[in-house]
Amino acid sequence: MNIIILGPQGSGKGTQAEMLAKKYNLEHIDMGKFLREVAKQNTPLGKEVYQIQNVTKTLVPSRILKEVLRLKLNSLPREQGVIFEGVPRKIDQQKYLEEELIESGRKINAVVFINIPEEESIKRISKRWTCRKGHPLIMGKDVYSDKDKCPIDASAIFQRIDDSSEGVRKRLQVYEEETMPVIENYRQRKLLIEVDGRPSIEEVRNSILTQIEKRNFF
Ligand SMILES: [Zn+2]
Repeated sequence: MNIIILGPQGSGKGTQAEMLAKKYNLEHIDMGKFLREVAKQNTPLGKEVYQIQNVTKTLVPSRILKEVLRLKLNSLPREQGVIFEGVPRKIDQQKYLEEELIESGRKINAVVFINIPEEESIKRISKRWTCRKGHPLIMGKDVYSDKDKCPIDASAIFQRIDDSSEGVRKRLQVYEEETMPVIENYRQRKLLIEVDGRPSIEEVRNSILTQIEKRNFF
C-alpha cells in the first residue's frame, strides 16, 4: 500500500504519518527531512540541495525533487510500501511524484487529507517554540513564557520566524494557491480520504483508519 498525506501546517500530519507507517509497515518519507539528509551528502546532488536550502534559500526546483524522489525510491525494495509527507505541494510536483512512483512499480492507493481551518492552523503553529538544540516545545504545555528555559537542557528558547503568525499566514496562502489544486485533483480521482483534523490525535487516527479499512486495499 502507498499513501500520500497532505494537510496545512499544524494539521498533525507528521504524527498521523508516523502512525500509519507503523500500522501498515510503510516507509515514512518526510520530504523536508529527506532533503536535509541529502544536503549533507558529499555528492553533486547533495551539494546542489545544500546550496538551495542554505544559500539561495529558494524552493527546491522540480528537477531536483524528481531526482531526490528517484534516489529514495530506488533505495527501497520494490515491494516496500511508502507514505509520503511534504510532497506534492503543487501540480508539477504531483506529476513528478506520480511518474517516479510508476517507474518504481508503485501506485497511490490513498491520499489522506487532514483538514483544519486557517485560524486553527495559526493558533497551533504559533504555540510552537524550540530551544538551541532544536527540542520541540509547546507554549502553554512545555514552557509558559519566552523567558523560560528548555526543560530538557535548560538552554534559551525562541520561536522560528516562520512560525510567527505572519509567517504562518504566508505559508497558508501558498498552500491554498498551490496545494489545494493537487488535493482537488485527488478528490476527482476518488483517491482522497478527507478527515477533520480538529479532534484529538486519537480521534483523527481512528477516522483515518476507518476510512482506509473501508477501502479494502488488502
Ligand atoms: Zn532543549
